[in-house]
Amino acid sequence: MAHLFGPVPSRRLGRSLGVDLIPPKTCPYNCIYCEVGPTTCQTRQRFSYQTEAMISEMADYLKDPGPAPDFITMAGSGEPTLNLGLGRIIREIKAMTDIPVAVLTNGALLYLPEVRRELAAADVVLPSLDAAREETYRAINRPLPELSLESLLEGLMSFRREYRGRIWLEVMLLKGLNDTEDELTLLRRAIQKIAPDKIQINTAVRPVVEAAARPLDAGEMEAAAATLGGPVEVIASFSRADIVGISGRDDDFVEMLSRRPMTAPDLAQALGLPLVQVVARLKRLQDSGRISHNRYHDQEFYRSQETGAA
Ligand code: SF4
Repeated sequence: MAHLFGPVPSRRLGRSLGVDLIPPKTCPYNCIYCEVGPTTCQTRQRFSYQTEAMISEMADYLKDPGPAPDFITMAGSGEPTLNLGLGRIIREIKAMTDIPVAVLTNGALLYLPEVRRELAAADVVLPSLDAAREETYRAINRPLPELSLESLLEGLMSFRREYRGRIWLEVMLLKGLNDTEDELTLLRRAIQKIAPDKIQINTAVRPVVEAAARPLDAGEMEAAAATLGGPVEVIASFSRADIVGISGRDDDFVEMLSRRPMTAPDLAQALGLPLVQVVARLKRLQDSGRISHNRYHDQEFYRSQETGAA
């Protein structure tokens, strides 16, 4: 499967079958906390990319999906709304299955009416808002110069007015950057205007692009949640450990690690395998050069060395 991945365990969506809508690493942002890596193609120009192939892969998958995933998720190694086929892909999937469709987006292109229209058919949209002060937005998300916090906020508010589905807003909190009382108060006011169905706060628990993206601890996350108020939840580690459809072959390990860095216990949970077996497999894959590891906040994370693995 070139464009589908998983089902993979998602902290926000349970067991999620991903559709990779965008080639790595294409995005209007270059966030300091990005888990995919530095942005190599920073753009806000939408483009055509593999629409027919994605629809046909999904049709094949749905012929024999096994236990249904909780969500089919439009995602990617970059920003999914850059794909001009987004609306068509969502509509075609909705016509094929009752499995709910979710879209992960940084929200930067929501100022475009056509992007908001294309998202209308999705069941859940999960945009991001990490700051409500221009300079903090620039420091964390490092957007293209022509993008502004104002256009992001206007896009989010317009989307809220027009969209009938659920909006789960993600806020990535980083120590010393957007976790002060001042920043959180501004965020709270901005979020109140957007009125999402959920506010999901996250922090940099995995290896990220810049060392400046430091995580909050559990107590600090709870305190930030209290300051933000509203329908807020702290996103924990994997809440659903089981996963189906992945057999635990070498290729499955490498493919999962090409999507995001994971620890050995993460993989053991995700693949439903004993930890000892996972550790042995990781060592072998590391010896053969297919994966690498690094230490991050006292945990060993593994990542694929095979770019574009699918
Ligand atoms: S918006 Fe997402 S993909 Fe783009 S740089 Fe930020 S974290 Fe990475």
